[in-house]
Amino acid sequence: MGKKTGFMEFEREHAAERDPRQRIADFKEYKRTVPDEQAQRQGARCMDCSIPYCSMGMDIEGSTTGCPLYNLIPEWNDLVYKGRWKEALDRLLKTNNFPEFTGKVCPAPCEGSCTVAISDDPVAIKDIELAIIDKGFEEGWIQPRVPHKRTSKKVAVIGSGPAGLAAADQLNQVGHSVTVYERSSRAGGLLTYGIPNMKLEKHIVQRRINLLEQEGIRFQLNTAVGTDILADTLKADYDAVLICTGAAKPIDLPLPGRDLNGIHFAMDYLTQSVKETLGEAPVDPHLNAKDKNVIVIGSGDTGADCVATALRQGAKSISQFSRSLQFPFQREPLNEWPAYPRVFSLEYGHEEAKMLYGEDIREYEIQTRSFKGNADGTVRSLYTERAKKIRDEQRRQFVYEEVPDSGEEWKADLVLVAIGFEGVENSVLDDFGVESSRGVISAEYGKFATNVEGVFAAGDARRGQSLIVWAINEGREAAYEVDRHLMGTSVLPTVGAASL
Ligand SMILES: Cc1cc2nc3c(=O)[nH]c(=O)nc-3n(C[C@H](O)[C@H](O)[C@H](O)COP(=O)(O)OP(=O)(O)OC[C@H]3O[C@@H](n4cnc5c(N)ncnc54)[C@H](O)[C@@H]3O)c2cc1C
Ligand code: SF4
Repeated sequence: MGKKTGFMEFEREHAAERDPRQRIADFKEYKRTVPDEQAQRQGARCMDCSIPYCSMGMDIEGSTTGCPLYNLIPEWNDLVYKGRWKEALDRLLKTNNFPEFTGKVCPAPCEGSCTVAISDDPVAIKDIELAIIDKGFEEGWIQPRVPHKRTSKKVAVIGSGPAGLAAADQLNQVGHSVTVYERSSRAGGLLTYGIPNMKLEKHIVQRRINLLEQEGIRFQLNTAVGTDILADTLKADYDAVLICTGAAKPIDLPLPGRDLNGIHFAMDYLTQSVKETLGEAPVDPHLNAKDKNVIVIGSGDTGADCVATALRQGAKSISQFSRSLQFPFQREPLNEWPAYPRVFSLEYGHEEAKMLYGEDIREYEIQTRSFKGNADGTVRSLYTERAKKIRDEQRRQFVYEEVPDSGEEWKADLVLVAIGFEGVENSVLDDFGVESSRGVISAEYGKFATNVEGVFAAGDARRGQSLIVWAINEGREAAYEVDRHLMGTSVLPTVGAASL
């Protein structure tokens, strides 16, 4: 274990963040990797408790608790505490293909279920994870691992997000010839074109893609399956196909005035911003917040990323709307450890906005009713009402009860709709004849097989919009099943249906 008395001696320390005043002037990452000694102090706080809930990804109260990759957290905590970094890296890479992504952007469901968190702040697990992989790259320990032997099997992976990349990595390592088809001009999926640079700079994603290429994976970019290349061709040319196309079809808000100019889906806005920062697209004034009153509708991560992006573009004002109540400052009785803590937090963009505008820009229990426009057809304002979220009479589900006379009009030159995703967005499923249900591909977790022989599905395309850590889990697990399908048995690791 770490240090017997570590959790009593040392407090939780956070990774240093750049000053909000400075960081809003650029699109660079806002967090820094922790120094070695800080990671070691945090490792020392690990109690190596007999049932490490931090490592056991499971669903409690509808949220993920513990690490879906079953990362061997107590083991690498101890190794880091003892300064045995190379061994810590070896343990980490046994379960996680891409710690440099999760170490930066995972919401860390492991930390909410850390045993130290019963009575104190949890071990800073995510910071330790990042420190280990960063050291791995710095020390030159991460080198291309080219498989010694090749099987004669060929696998096509459609989509280069974290699910597709994890699956490709696993399948390549056991010797199959893997080609990843990606319709965008860069690989990475939402790691590249969704998550803003402030959370994950794109050279970090490219560094991993380069490694995978050196290891033998082929990337066929600018190739949309279903249009540029058809399912029949892939089925004929490959021994197995894995669909990892994500679930980025946004939910719309079909309210009066929705067709006005200046109302956009958050994903279009964020993707454009990433392309501008990468120099792949010129600045589009319609999708830019400069000098505009911006309203972000939706309270999730995507909305928070819109806030941070609009700040950097020089928005005049920003408000973010949530239908729900503000989370409490402490766990409530129905949200006990080890469930994911549903408590108030200030995301990086919210902290920056508070610094700039002097207050939290979030509005709770508010619902948009309509949009109003100027004579030229551009949005001018939106109209809202307040509605309380309460239990229905049978106390079975939540309903919204309108607050009388609560109507308000808000100035708006740019409205970003970030209220979630309804599922898979393209015709690739029709082309393959793959069945879907409620917007996502029908393929049982643990088997990943679709109704079409030799065609598998994983990641958000199968489970719906989720997290990077789940996408990696699904990619790894699906690779095991694809390998078994091809070879009759598999030497790849699996946590099987344990991880639900
Ligand atoms: C704005 C935003 C911020 C987020 N922030 C976080 C975060 O901070 N932390 C976190 O854990 N999760 C976050 N998520 C969720 C996370 O990004 C996703 O759960 C994850 O990327 C899903 O991985 P995936 O591989 O299944 O799909 P994706 O990452 O969506 O990748 C799918 C890929 O398939 C490609 N594709 C689609 N159709 C075709 C086709 N027909 N032919 C070829 N290629 C195709 C797409 O271009 C894309 O590259 C965020 C999501 C969004 C939208
Ligand atoms: S991948 Fe996420 S849940 Fe797993 S150890 Fe890292 S931060 Fe925690």
